[in-house]
Amino acid sequence: MEKKLNQLNNEMRNKIINKIQGFSVKERYNLCAECHKVKGCGIDHSVYLYDTGTCDLCGKKGDVVNCSLAGYLKEQDIDEIIYWEAGLPRIIQKRIN
Ligand SMILES: [Zn+2]
Ligand SMILES: [Zn+2]
Repeated sequence: MEKKLNQLNNEMRNKIINKIQGFSVKERYNLCAECHKVKGCGIDHSVYLYDTGTCDLCGKKGDVVNCSLAGYLKEQDIDEIIYWEAGLPRIIQKRIN
């Protein structure tokens, strides 16, 4: 049986936030679906990982996704809907805090 969290605890939330804060400039790229098809990571991301923003490749406003975050959630076996429900950032700001 697959063991999955049904909600993110504080420890997990902090872990994700720390991970995001450590993203490099390149890892902070948010891509629209069209650019993702051409220049993305090659994995189809859940709609739950998209949020409204600006594509860092074509400059279009709309739904964008961040591959680094998506990859990290996959690596940590975190369900996209649970992540979405947790209200954590789905697209990453350019500023490195
Ligand atoms: Zn684009
Ligand atoms: Zn991707």
